[in-house]
Parts: sequence; C-alpha cells; structure tokens
Amino acid sequence: MFEQLGLIGCGLMGGSFALALKRAGLVRRVVGYSKSPSTTERARQLGVIDVEAPSALLAVSGADLVMLAVPVAATESTLKAIRHLINPGMLIVDVGSTKRDVVDAARRALKQDMEMFVPCHPIAGREVSGVENADPRLYHDRQVIITPIERTAQAKVDQASQLWKALGSDVVIMSPQEHDAAFAAVSHLPHMLAFALMNSLASQPEGDKYLKLAGPGFRDFSRIAASDPKMWRDVLIANREELGVQMQHLQRALSALDKLIAEGRADELERLINRASHARANWRLRPGAPA
Ligand code: NAP
Repeated sequence: MFEQLGLIGCGLMGGSFALALKRAGLVRRVVGYSKSPSTTERARQLGVIDVEAPSALLAVSGADLVMLAVPVAATESTLKAIRHLINPGMLIVDVGSTKRDVVDAARRALKQDMEMFVPCHPIAGREVSGVENADPRLYHDRQVIITPIERTAQAKVDQASQLWKALGSDVVIMSPQEHDAAFAAVSHLPHMLAFALMNSLASQPEGDKYLKLAGPGFRDFSRIAASDPKMWRDVLIANREELGVQMQHLQRALSALDKLIAEGRADELERLINRASHARANWRLRPGAPA
C-alpha cells in the first residue's frame, strides 16, 4: 500500500495507472500534475487524482510512489524538476514507449539518484489519448516490460514488479537495448508503415474514392495510423537507430517482392508469400493476452 502517488502527466496512461491503483486499494492519495492546468483540473473532476499540484515538484512532495506518464521527450526535464525531492524511500516508475532514451535522460537528470528509478513500458494503450479515456483495467492482462540498468536497485525492481502484478500485468525484464530493438520491429515499424500507407492514399487525387471501397483487411492493417501524432513523433525519433535497422530489413523484403512481381516470377513469388503466411499462421499473441 502506498501513501501517496505523485502522478506527473495525467493523460491516458497516467490516469489509467492512478485509477487502477485506487481500484486495487493500493494507494491512499493521488496528487497530480499535467502541463496544462485544465488537464490537471479535469483529472480531479473525473476522480483520477485527489489533489491538483501546480508543479511536478509539488506533485512529488510527500509521495512514496512517483509515476512519470509524460511524452518520452519530456523525461529529462521532468526528472530534473523533481530531483531535489527524490529520496531513498521512493519508487519512481515511467511508462515511456522507448527505453534507451529514457534511461539516458534519467542518467543525465538523476546522476547519483538512479537507484529509485525503474524504467517500465506497459504493452497497453489505445489510439485515443487524454484523461477522459483513462481506464482502470488498461493494464490488466497486459505485459509490462521493465528495463533496469546496473544502477537500478534490485529492491526497487522487485517493488515495481509486485506493483504491476497487483494491477494484473505480466512482468518481463530485459535491457533497454533489447527492448528498443524488439519494439522497433513489432511496434514502431508497423506504425510507420500505417502512417505511410494512409499518407500515400491521401496524397493521390483518387485516394478518397479508393478509401470508400476499402474493406476489413484495410481496416485491420491501417488501424494504428489513427494513433496520437505527438506521442508517435517522439517515439519514432527517440528510437531512430533501431528503426533504421528495421527499415533496412523491410526494404530488402519489399524489393524482393517487387522484383518477382515486376518479372512475373509466379512460383518464387508464391514461395515468398507462403513463407509470410506460415510465419503469420504460427504467430500467437502471448498466452492469456486479450484477443
Ligand atoms: P496523453 O494521454 O497525451 O497524456 C500525456 C500527459 O502528459 C498529458 O496530460 C500532458 O499534459 C502531460 N504532459 C506533457 N508534457 C508534460 C510535461 N512536460 N510535464 C508534465 N506533464 C506533461 O499520452 P499517453 O498516451 O498517456 O502517453 C504518455 C506516455 O505513455 C508516453 O511516454 C507514451 O510513450 C507512453 N505510452 C503510451 C501508450 C499509448 O498507447 N497511448 C502505450 C504505452 C506507452 P497536457 O494535457 O497538459 O498536454
């Protein structure tokens, strides 16, 4: 049981975390801060937070648990803003979608006080953002990746793991590097493709007409293009190195298909489609994940 959650960033992820903690009876009081006072006020009106703080530092004052649920590009400035109130009794977690940049930002901002910071990435979320969409069950039955570094205290990693488990999440531990390489492949590249596909259609004179004819396959493929632009701008730039590696793999795969199609080499084309079809048929969401 935590006495006080200091929530910085009262949006979809932060708001859902606060609601989940409250529902599980794991926190007595939630003090929140968001960049716009209107967001913080809305969070209080919705019962997501109990008290509005006028700054990140004041949100953390008296907290034994701190959640950073801000865009990843705001991690360093946020940690610098709260640095003076960080103490060994605190657990600090985040939900940023990229981890190498978050850990680098924490190293720069926290220096000696890194032990209390446990970098986390819940594989949960939605296309819609904002506190209005906060959901106490967002983290239930979802994976949370924890990416400690040498300086992270093991006791804090254990405490963070227990906390996420108490919210119904499965915890997986890996390095920030492994995390960013994997999520470049299975999340960041697919988002980039979905954005490119929609832009390619939108830029064609007949694009609207084509879109009206699209069916469920197109709907499934393009769903993630409706994601939050500011969040994805930050994520794609933050993980640009690993995304670059995945782009090269994709370009090779696209060129191979393109060549076979252009040259009408049906048997070889079928073999490549077959390989993709088998890989997809054999892929399963991890056991227990919601459909
Ligand atoms: P969101 O709904 O837009 O919430 C972000 C909140 O952070 C907003 O309330 C915003 O305040 C506040 N904020 C922005 N800059 C700030 C700053 N410098 N100081 C204090 N507050 C600040 O976005 P979200 O979806 O919750 O995303 C938050 C984090 O979760 C991101 O790092 C993202 O990578 C990660 N994440 C998101 C998803 C997803 O599907 N959405 C999934 C996994 C991880 P204002 O309202 O005043 O602008």
